[in-house]
Amino acid sequence: MGRIRWTYAALSDTGRVRSGNEDSLFADPAGGVFAVADGMGGHAAGEVASTIATRVIGDRLCSCRRDSSEQIRGSLRAAFAAAGQQIIREARQDPAREGMGTTATVLVLDPEGCYLVGHIGDSRCYLLRDGALRQLTRDHSWVQEQVERGVISREQARFHPQSNIITRALGTDEIPQPDVYEGEARPDDIFLIASDGLTDMLSEREIESILGSESPPGDAAARLVEGANRAGGVDNITVLVVSVEPG
Ligand code: CA
Repeated sequence: MGRIRWTYAALSDTGRVRSGNEDSLFADPAGGVFAVADGMGGHAAGEVASTIATRVIGDRLCSCRRDSSEQIRGSLRAAFAAAGQQIIREARQDPAREGMGTTATVLVLDPEGCYLVGHIGDSRCYLLRDGALRQLTRDHSWVQEQVERGVISREQARFHPQSNIITRALGTDEIPQPDVYEGEARPDDIFLIASDGLTDMLSEREIESILGSESPPGDAAARLVEGANRAGGVDNITVLVVSVEPG
């Protein structure tokens, strides 16, 4: 037995405006690997890109050795590189898929009580601990750069017309540069991985309140999707909620 174990729930919803769903998700609770990807590109190519990303990254991380966090870090970077290369390869074979790309955010949990997050694009990973929500990832987006320069506020960024411009992605970058974050995972922590169809629709206070008041994770996931749809549901909504328990 490890120090922690976990339960999870995942939901992906088309939303109320789009005709298709270009988000993808991956969950392997036994391996402690959870991922969300949000694809882009015409003719449903976004769906192809996000599916490749979650499948390649998920499969590689489930089968890699995990003796140390350095080893997991290396595997995360290699998995992102492999997914990016495969998306580029498939885009070259089909003109309708030219320029397709995707975000990818993946959480790896270790039973000994550590987490690693690999991230590229503007999907997000949050951690709710002691009732407070913290964004673990930094958006690779134009509006995020404006927030960091003090040009606009975080709240203005949510409603900004250019909020869809992302500055790093798999498929569009020849050599993807994912961020990797690492920390301690404790019992009662709740991790949330979500596409921007959730985070553009709900404020962090609203997300914090839902995650803090709903258990099990399936109820929280359902209420998050319901809330984003009620707020307009203008984009595909994908949420993956992972609840940490004592091992
Ligand atoms: Ca999206």
